[in-house]
Amino acid sequence: MATSNASPELPTLRTFRPGGTTTIYAYYDGRTCPWQSSNWYDETLALGVASYSIIDGNTALLFDAGLTPAHGAHMLAHVRSLGADSVTTVYSHFHADHIAGASALRETKIVAHKGTYERLKKDAENLRNPGEGEGPSIDVVLPTETYEMTLSIQVGSITVELHNFHIHTADSTLLFIPESGLVFAGDMLEDTVTYLSDAEDLEKHIQELGRMAQLPIKKILPAHGCPDRIRAGGFDKSLIDTTVRYLTALSEPVEKPAAWEKTLEEVMKDDLAAGKLVYCQAYEGVHHENIESIKEIREENSAIDTTKSWDKQPDICNLSSYYTGQTINDRRES
Ligand SMILES: [Zn+2]
Repeated sequence: MATSNASPELPTLRTFRPGGTTTIYAYYDGRTCPWQSSNWYDETLALGVASYSIIDGNTALLFDAGLTPAHGAHMLAHVRSLGADSVTTVYSHFHADHIAGASALRETKIVAHKGTYERLKKDAENLRNPGEGEGPSIDVVLPTETYEMTLSIQVGSITVELHNFHIHTADSTLLFIPESGLVFAGDMLEDTVTYLSDAEDLEKHIQELGRMAQLPIKKILPAHGCPDRIRAGGFDKSLIDTTVRYLTALSEPVEKPAAWEKTLEEVMKDDLAAGKLVYCQAYEGVHHENIESIKEIREENSAIDTTKSWDKQPDICNLSSYYTGQTINDRRES
């Protein structure tokens, strides 16, 4: 397994090839400090974050742009050192920790979902001039090519497919490699659990996880997950099931779901014991924020319509029937 040390500028960056792969590298930083709910940069370092590359011959694809321009520059220099002179970058979605490194990748072709382009264009000025304590300024680089449903890209002899799913955010891109069954999942699947970005779309997220499960997936490489598991080759397809179980527990259609009173470690104890997930204490902070997001949405919905309350909202538990894969249609809006 090839490993190289990071530059002095990036002391905690680990570059390695996930087990079982010959053409893929992971660039992993973080999970080296405790959680503090402050800004996207500190939170991401606490959770740990990976970008990836696929290299074949003189062609390379970078999946996500890295946490900072120094990360982006490291990735580009790495694939160039291995002989790649034609490089494409793919953004998994518009969130800052996935696009912040792109100012070092201007010479690459940058591909993203149409929704990612639109959101970045709208947010560019705010990202360039963040408020105090909001994290580093970002020099946004807009995608040079967009897609809406799916897109195939050739990386040397390797065909990769980009698929849009409305999970985590509406613009999420999953990269699927049919010949190996490997996926790069961005933030749609995380270990220890998903970060509920748009709680109002929870029903959609669960439906779309069912659609994702129909792909012949063998291994999953998430953007945020245990570095040792990624180094060992990634997560099993069961990471989709654990995500559905977590979201279902959090949105149980009762006034106060039992999961709201439990730690993340307690909620996911069976999946942790089975080794499907790896416990990361920083995710207790994510769990807390997820609960708060769901509470907020329920309160908003009740305020909009006083006839609505938690017991009138969609029965998320019953949505697990979607997850059998029998009735899932392509429900994309675009
Ligand atoms: Zn995200």
